[in-house]
Amino acid sequence: MSITSEIQKLRQELPSSTRLVAVSKFHPIDEILEAYAAGQRIFGESRVQELCEKHPLLPQDIDWHFIGHLQTNKIKQIVPFVGLIHGVDSLRLLKEINKEGERVGRKVPCLLQIHVAMEETKFGFSPQECLDLVAGGALNSLDWVEIRGIMGMASLTDDMEQIRTEFRQLYDLFNRLKSVYFQNDNSFSERSMGMSDDYPIAVEEGSSLVRIGTRIFGLRHY
Ligand SMILES: *Cc1c(COP(=O)(O)O)cnc(C)c1O
Repeated sequence: MSITSEIQKLRQELPSSTRLVAVSKFHPIDEILEAYAAGQRIFGESRVQELCEKHPLLPQDIDWHFIGHLQTNKIKQIVPFVGLIHGVDSLRLLKEINKEGERVGRKVPCLLQIHVAMEETKFGFSPQECLDLVAGGALNSLDWVEIRGIMGMASLTDDMEQIRTEFRQLYDLFNRLKSVYFQNDNSFSERSMGMSDDYPIAVEEGSSLVRIGTRIFGLRHY
């Protein structure tokens, strides 16, 4: 299977309400260009250095999403151009992004990362922590971040019902946040959920952004 045909197949398969983030981490420029030639415009990277190396070498209309764990000391490298930061997992990080956005005069689109998986190691707010954060009003003074929605990962398991339950938790949280705190905020609209192995379930459970790497580009060589 070629990159081009995988992109085309995914485009046919995904509903119009779900956009594709092609996760290009660890894959070279020429493979990204093949996906670009097939019409793909949103690409996801998880390391700041790699993203900053690729960005100037590739077409400027690419919408670069940062999907990894962001360290505060690297924020300023991506804030000038990043299209969406998926994994914001602390108020401290959000405040630092806000500060940098203000410095460069750019409102930075972000998703709050929510932990719903069984594994202990993953980053993110629990659904309750997220509700408390928003209810506490701490976000109100952050004028230079735009909270576009939430992002989460399901457990690494073959248990499809477990995965479905976790995506449903994410969608329920999104709905609660939307109806209580973001009702009049049209930019709060994204549910980033689903990867190569579980995106069909994520789509059924209301994903608006799927992050797919391996299925498009093949295995990564670390
Ligand atoms: C690497 C990565 C993906 C893509 O995973 P695949 O299984 O290759 O599709 C999606 N989301 C995040 C957060 C990632 O780090």
